[in-house]
Formats: sequence, structure tokens, C-alpha cells
Amino acid sequence: MGKSATPMAGLEKRGATGQSPSMNASDAIDLTLPAITFPETAVETAAGRLSVPGWQVAEKTVAIRPSLVAELTGAAREAAARAHAPYSRFRVGAAVVMADDPEAKIFSGCNVENASFGATICAERNAIFAAAAAGFRRIELLAVSTLDSLAGPIEGRSPCGICRQVTREFADEKTLIVIDSGADDALGEVVDIDRLLPWGFVLREESRDG
Ligand SMILES: [Zn+2]
Repeated sequence: MGKSATPMAGLEKRGATGQSPSMNASDAIDLTLPAITFPETAVETAAGRLSVPGWQVAEKTVAIRPSLVAELTGAAREAAARAHAPYSRFRVGAAVVMADDPEAKIFSGCNVENASFGATICAERNAIFAAAAAGFRRIELLAVSTLDSLAGPIEGRSPCGICRQVTREFADEKTLIVIDSGADDALGEVVDIDRLLPWGFVLREESRDG
């Protein structure tokens, strides 16, 4: 079922409480995200060097709250049920809690499609943009639920490239993303932004100066 991709860390269900996120701060557990190494290689050609860039992410242990994961996944599924997806029939929901929100409110979103197709927007961006519009800038936890492919492989349940880049914009080293697997005995698959988006674009001063 594609659920065991190496960079993903499995998280077993520990029971939802249904309480608000701020009431469950004490149920945090440690979760270790494994290291990733893509080796770098290069070959010299008559026209110049061709290189394959490497990518390294160190092993990292993070604190995660299973009750919050369960609550956000539930909110994501509820949002997915409200998706406007008459063209793809592929409903997606997302829910996010922001680290810089003292009230730890849940912002949710669904995919909203459009007859022009190009005006369509994903659930993840709707949720993140709602949080940004409320004034918050750092994602603590983002849950994504693809209601119509929950039993399928990870590539059919994880965020698209645009949403990964948008998540990058508001992510830091503590940000976690949970992908709903739909399994009764599982909370979902957990990644951080480095594992979700290698070489995610960051606009630095030197980039601007060219
Ligand atoms: Zn997307």
C-alpha cells in the first residue's frame, strides 16, 4: 500500500480525546525522523560538468502530540467532506495549527475546483492561507486527508508540489506534516519540511542580487 516509504515515520494511534489542542499539551511524545542521504555525483563531459546534487537530512527527534494529530486529521476529513470537487471527484481536506497562535486555533480548508480548472485551489493552501490571513506565520502541525484515496499509496495522499512550497514558506525546523492513511489503527505518516520538499525554494538576498 506504499505506506512504508523510508523518510516517513509511522505513528500509532493513541486515542483521540476530542479536547481542544491547548488542553492536550501534556500528551506529547518523542518521534524520531530517520536520516536521509542522497549521494552527490558528477560526471565531466566535453561540454562541461553534469552533476547530480546530493541531499542530506540528519536524524531528528521531535515532540508530537497524538491527540492533536487525531484532532487535526478529523478536522481535515470534515473539511474534505465539504470539498467543491465536481470535476475531479477527488475530495481533500487540510487542517493546521500555528505555533505562533497563542489560542492554537484550528484552521481548515478543502479543495475548491473551478470550471476553468486553472482557478482551482488545493485544501492545504486554503487552510494555510486562512491561518496566514489571521496573522500567523509558523506552522506547528498540518494534517492532510484525501478522503477518496485513503487506502491508496502515499503519492496519492501527499501534498502536491505547489502546496509543499507554500508549506515551506511557513515551516521551521519544528513544523510537522501528517498525511492521513485512513487505517483504523494508524494516525498517519509524519514528515518535516526537509523530508517533504528537498531543495524547497528560499529567496535569499544573494538570489535577488543574481
Ligand atoms: Zn496542492
